[in-house]
Parts: sequence; C-alpha cells; structure tokens
Amino acid sequence: MTAIDWRDGPVECVGGYGRQLRPKGAKETGKWAGTVAHKARRLCATCYERQRELTCEPQPYRMVWRWQMLADAPVLHQEYEAIADLMDVLREMGCVLAARPARRRVVHGATPFMELDYRIRDCTPAERTVLAPPQPDTPAGGTDVATVVTA
Ligand SMILES: [Zn+2]
Repeated sequence: MTAIDWRDGPVECVGGYGRQLRPKGAKETGKWAGTVAHKARRLCATCYERQRELTCEPQPYRMVWRWQMLADAPVLHQEYEAIADLMDVLREMGCVLAARPARRRVVHGATPFMELDYRIRDCTPAERTVLAPPQPDTPAGGTDVATVVTA
C-alpha cells in the first residue's frame, strides 16, 4: 500500500462511511477541522476495528525478546541473528510479527544480552499454512544466497 498523500488536506476513509481522515498526531483544527484521526490502512479507528472483526484478524500484543549475545561479533549483525531466532520461535508459537522489531537495549558484561521490542499476533489459518514451524533437519527459513555488490 502506498503512503497517504496529505498535501491536499483530508483524505476519505475507505471504510465506506464518508469520514474524512487527518494524519495521526495532527490536531482537529484548521484544514483538519471535522476530521477523524487516521488509524491504519486508510481507515479511521471505527472502520479499522470493524474490518479486523470481519476478517477475524487477531489483536497484536507487545513483547520483549531477550537474546544472549555472542562474543566478538558486531552488535548490528547480532541484532539480525536475534531476529532470525525470534522468527523460528514465532513459527513454533503460530504467531507473526505485527511490526518491525526495534532494539530496546544492549547490556554488556559477563553475560551480555540484547532486548528487542516487538509486536506479534496469532497467525490466521492461511498464515499458519504457509508459516509451518521449521523442521529440525532443515535450515530455518529461506535459502543461502551469496550476492556480490560492487560500488
Ligand atoms: Zn471509517
């Protein structure tokens, strides 16, 4: 979905009730007077919740992933290693990410660890079919592809 272009003012909610939307965080004054806040997917909060109920999409919830860090490896690399391990756990739980994980903190010391904030929700039946848990005898997720990029 493309980003909403707010330059011409309010945009109509696609929920079908004719409400005019304003960007999240904008006050209901000036050109935004008489509008309702955009929730997501070009919908106001009311239509967003209505659509979620119709499609039975589960509610997301916030979690913290604590990951034991490795010695002598760049923190940025380890962040993605942590996310890769998180994906395996989510498949086993039957959950999917609802937002990109964000680094919360890195704690150095005898047992260094990293914490990531993330939001997940339960899989829909269709998602559960394509996101089966990783099998123990095969590598989890994707395939190894070597890409060489020259500047
Ligand atoms: Zn609406």
